[in-house]
Amino acid sequence: MLKIRNLEAGYGKLKVLKDIWMHVKKGQIVTIIGANGAGKTTLLSAISGMIRPTSGEILFEDREISSMVAQKIPALGCVMVPEGRQIFAALSVEENLILGGHCLKPKGKKAIENQLRHQYELFPILEERKNQYAGTLSGGEQQMLAMGRALMSKPSLIMMDEPSTGLAPLIVQAIFEVIVKMREEGRTVLLVEQNAKAALGIADRGYVLETGKIILQGPASDLLANRDVQRAYLGREKIEKQQG
Ligand code: ATP
Repeated sequence: MLKIRNLEAGYGKLKVLKDIWMHVKKGQIVTIIGANGAGKTTLLSAISGMIRPTSGEILFEDREISSMVAQKIPALGCVMVPEGRQIFAALSVEENLILGGHCLKPKGKKAIENQLRHQYELFPILEERKNQYAGTLSGGEQQMLAMGRALMSKPSLIMMDEPSTGLAPLIVQAIFEVIVKMREEGRTVLLVEQNAKAALGIADRGYVLETGKIILQGPASDLLANRDVQRAYLGREKIEKQQG
């Protein structure tokens, strides 16, 4: 579904991503883990057209998208749930969802209503809050709204940037259960997370990004069992020290 070849990208003179090669297969959850500043958001920004790579290729369903304007990419079926959710605070929950359906195909009132119903089944709390200003939702509810809004256009690939940030463990669990449901519905998910344990726990494959380079990749279960990953991202060293 997604192939990235020899990608380099950054901001002006700052080169952030170097020599990135990766692929995401249809129907899988693929996670990218890495420390603060490793370049995870930059990678999603390059795929979603928000920054222009300085070299390399990004193929979405065999179509080169690295030089495409950002507004055209969601219509191809590739959408992003950004870090910090970025919902429209002064609009109602339902208005936010309806905006997410702007590139739904086929269009029309009925199609939007069907999609609204589907999001309300996935996130019952959004139906309870549908007339409430989105800015008054809790952090977890805002994350659900950002996900529901992205799903309104029935994307084939959904990219999520740190959905668990700032949320209580039970809410994180609920969010991750929905991500698994997305895969069951046939969607493909590219999940950027600092919560490496939770992300590798549901993913099929994973990539470890360090200072702009992929240093490890493979089946998520292999990464979970890898001692370097455990030490750097799963807090194993801390646990070993505590145990003496
Ligand atoms: P985090 O987990 O903290 O969100 P990240 O892995 O997503 O980190 P990025 O946000 O991609 O990392 O940042 C990678 C590098 O690019 C950092 O050094 C950051 O300071 C720099 N950077 C990010 N956005 C910009 C920008 N708009 N302009 C200039 N530099 C930027």
